[in-house]
Amino acid sequence: MAIDPREPYDPDNIFAKILRGEIPCNKVYEDDHALAFHDIAPQAPVHVLVIPKGEYVSWDDFSARAPEGEIAGFIRAVGHVARELDLVDPGYRLLANIGAHGGQEVPHLHVHLFGGKPLGRMIS
Ligand code: IMP
Repeated sequence: MAIDPREPYDPDNIFAKILRGEIPCNKVYEDDHALAFHDIAPQAPVHVLVIPKGEYVSWDDFSARAPEGEIAGFIRAVGHVARELDLVDPGYRLLANIGAHGGQEVPHLHVHLFGGKPLGRMIS
């Protein structure tokens, strides 16, 4: 079920547990600001989730509350993962589902990174 972004941050969400090391993940990259790991139910040959380490539910929450270093670090981490996974050429897709209308299911901000095949156009 999609989440309500007005709810306070739930420290028991699955990505919070991954960040605390309470449940495992298939890690791709980690630094001070971000963790990247393979999605458990991949929708493309490459399907990685990149999450900030801070407690943020949505992009609007993150961009409003996070210190600039965390924002820069997270954005840099997404680009780093794309380069490390050799996706820059021929390309990849970033997606963030936010809130109920965005279909967000895990209430910790995450960016999906898809690649490894032609992904088609989502908008025309
Ligand atoms: P959302 O719909 O944008 O919130 O996407 C949540 C994503 O998290 C989905 O693509 C799930 O497959 C993925 N996911 C849920 N639990 C885990 C896990 O334990 N490890 C890795 N990915 C997960």
